[in-house]
Amino acid sequence: MSLDTLFEKKVQQQRAFFMANQPLSLSYRQQQLSLLKDAIFDHQEALTEALSLDLNKPEFESYVTEIGYVLNELKSTIKQLKKWVKPQKVNTPFFLQPATSYIHSTALGVCLIISPFNYPVALTLSPLIAALAAGNCCIVKTSELTPNVSRVLKQLLNSLFSSDYVHCVNGDVEHVTALLTQKFDHIFFTGSSEVGKLVMQQAAQHLTPVTLELGGKSPCIVCADANIEIAVKRIVYGKMLNTGQTCVAPDYVLVDDSIKSEFLKQLTQRIKSLYGAEPIKSKDLGRIVNTQHTKRISQLIDPDKVIIGGRFDIKNRYIAPTVMVNVELDDPIMQQEVFGPVLPVLGFSEVEDAVTIIRSLPSHPLAAYIFSEGKSTQDLLVSQIQAGGMAINHCVQQLANPNLPFGGVGLSGIGSYHGKYGFDCFSHQKSVLKAATWFDLSFAYPPYKGKLSKLKKFLE
Ligand code: NAD
Repeated sequence: MSLDTLFEKKVQQQRAFFMANQPLSLSYRQQQLSLLKDAIFDHQEALTEALSLDLNKPEFESYVTEIGYVLNELKSTIKQLKKWVKPQKVNTPFFLQPATSYIHSTALGVCLIISPFNYPVALTLSPLIAALAAGNCCIVKTSELTPNVSRVLKQLLNSLFSSDYVHCVNGDVEHVTALLTQKFDHIFFTGSSEVGKLVMQQAAQHLTPVTLELGGKSPCIVCADANIEIAVKRIVYGKMLNTGQTCVAPDYVLVDDSIKSEFLKQLTQRIKSLYGAEPIKSKDLGRIVNTQHTKRISQLIDPDKVIIGGRFDIKNRYIAPTVMVNVELDDPIMQQEVFGPVLPVLGFSEVEDAVTIIRSLPSHPLAAYIFSEGKSTQDLLVSQIQAGGMAINHCVQQLANPNLPFGGVGLSGIGSYHGKYGFDCFSHQKSVLKAATWFDLSFAYPPYKGKLSKLKKFLE
């Protein structure tokens, strides 16, 4: 059977299930999410091992950013779902009275989720949790670059759920291409901007709405009044997490010239103290996902500009934590998302110059980070930088707050999710106006003769 036919059948089966059972009750959704929670809990070891095999992820990071993260999201979704599904009352203007109005969230139908390699557990399951909470059926396509995690997820999901409700596919470009010929009710894609464009083009054939969670170059601005010690600690944390393969990792640093040498001194000391003289031996540093990406990152390193690190071993998918200075905007490292443990540092003399540099790059960043103790500088930068999300005096943490929407703007993405925003992303917000029948204003109906001037007078 061709992939096209196979997926056509799967989508048909899911649509039939959706139609027959719509709307899936609150208790059904909660029960399925609870089953998923138990299954993930039971598969913790297998997932941790798979993450170690695919990305050499330290166990701590695997728990905090993947398994524990997803378990926590499940717990809070199950708890809050009753509140989310409740119709939301809104005011009704006087000229429509007597009536009440509300927003009723309804499921979209059959959704497609396509996930990337870098957080293969969290970025597959987190959108799935939102989609199921909203009452949808789902086909999930995992990344071919993390074969071990993909295998565990497929086994977990396909043995837990009936395939007309949730079906997990392991596959590559060929599978995505075949999946995208089908008509879905929503496509949720996490990955690169280049592939995001292809997904949107294909979705347009069926007018299928998309959520695109993409990447880009996320800047860190370190101002003259920053707490340098804290800035260094948190930038190194955000950059080295998952070996730099984090969509919201600080991609490059813009530091005020007046504190640049102190910042660089502390930055190199911090990297040395965390990863030692031979970072290749560090248990806290993962590996790049494959040799192709390792080679790509190694080619962004200019040895003449390296002040720490710079070593790599392509066969072993290793890149040392690296800092580059005297970087120019037309250097190769500033032409693409780094997505590895290499940090270019550029200087600025006025904070407005930092904004100009960020605006000069082709894409609005997915995240931007401000290190400053001054409220007016913080406010200025928050208002002037167009970015998907921001953190002040920290990195990456904005993503961990489920009360904040997570998504990009411009080339870094369309739409957002997490917590209630995820539920909304996979729902249609249906408007309902409920009119009373005990009163009927005949003024609104034809014949209109003589009514317009009265109406205008009334509205003045
Ligand atoms: P990718 O775009 O290469 O792959 C993502 C998915 O698309 C995979 O499932 C892959 O099989 C599929 N794919 C790849 N090439 C395709 C093609 N030509 N046609 C159809 N499908 C194709 O992304 P990646 O390398 O797995 O992940 C890294 C990128 O994802 C980075 O740019 C990163 O910033 C971004 N990202 C964004 C977020 C976010 O939440 N905004 C999160 C993680 C990663």
